[in-house]
Amino acid sequence: MRAALESGASADAQAAQAAVSGGVPSLEAAAALLSPAGSDMLEDLAQIAHRMTVARFGKTIAMYAPLYLSNQCACTCTYCGFSMGLNIRRKTLTRDEISREAVTLAERGFRNILLVSAEHPKYVNVDYVCRSIEEVKKVSPYVGLEIAAADEEQYRAYVASGCDGVVLYQETYDPAIYARHHLGGPKKKYHWRLDALERAGAAGVRHLGVGALLGLADWRFEALALLWHARYLERRCWRSQINVSFPRINPAAGGFVADHPVDDRQLVQLLCLFRLALPTAGIALSTRETPQLRDRLVPLGITHMSAGSSTEPGGYGAPGSAGKQFELEDTRTPAEVKAALERMGYDAVFKDWEVMPAASAST
Ligand code: SF4
Repeated sequence: MRAALESGASADAQAAQAAVSGGVPSLEAAAALLSPAGSDMLEDLAQIAHRMTVARFGKTIAMYAPLYLSNQCACTCTYCGFSMGLNIRRKTLTRDEISREAVTLAERGFRNILLVSAEHPKYVNVDYVCRSIEEVKKVSPYVGLEIAAADEEQYRAYVASGCDGVVLYQETYDPAIYARHHLGGPKKKYHWRLDALERAGAAGVRHLGVGALLGLADWRFEALALLWHARYLERRCWRSQINVSFPRINPAAGGFVADHPVDDRQLVQLLCLFRLALPTAGIALSTRETPQLRDRLVPLGITHMSAGSSTEPGGYGAPGSAGKQFELEDTRTPAEVKAALERMGYDAVFKDWEVMPAASAST
């Protein structure tokens, strides 16, 4: 990895050109594409990424919505608005509240719901998560989880309750920087988190979402580490679909400022590289980014988008009753995002699969 990073740092125009036209890039070629010389080839890179995306995924975007279960957290993470010491209103949704949030999202069209939670074993334990999945499953055929890292047995319990996917960002792949930003609580354990998606795959989770929180460490290092991790998961968890995401740090309670901010052009370069390097992976784009940038990124490789999101527990039915995790940039409604996609020639797909009842399967 370090060798690839060093070769990328010294990549010239010739090396970048060879990487652009060389098919699915090796780690060394990926480093060249991420280099300043690769940045000069961004237009070519974008055109290839667009062609590859349309050829494989068509002009469709799968829509999803996060549903926050709890902001009660036993961890201290420097960048997060839910961090344990912060003075925000704390809340864990009851089963009735979860049901109301899920029904509200279903009424807005969503059939792909991502359950998100802070990490507090006292409030959000395995039983609570299983009951939450079952509740949401009543209105949404697809339920994913973005919660604390679990062991394989716990992931099996989630799958038995109906869990279709697990999203778990490593935040940063640099262990020293990870230690500086994860100061207390279960999330301190770097390797426990790093290995979690492999445990989820072994437990039968069908979709695995991997990512890094851009801004904590050098973005080129994070990109190569993320690529290595995604490819490792593709090999080890071959029954699962791998998805990737590149969230950038947004303003949150606590006022954290990123040490290594990633600008829009670098984000485009990174997105195009991942489309070339992981041709079959889904790529998710959240409402952390502005409407203008989201619309520009869609043709370059995006397959999944959220819309009309809230980052507070209960934020759809009763907004303002609990603290938010972070601020969002794209505040358009789902209908407005759908209309914007349609103007670009894309279909916004709110429900892209469902198990057909036996009685109707033959008709
Ligand atoms: S990042 Fe997760 S574990 Fe860390 S403080 Fe925020 S909610 Fe808690």
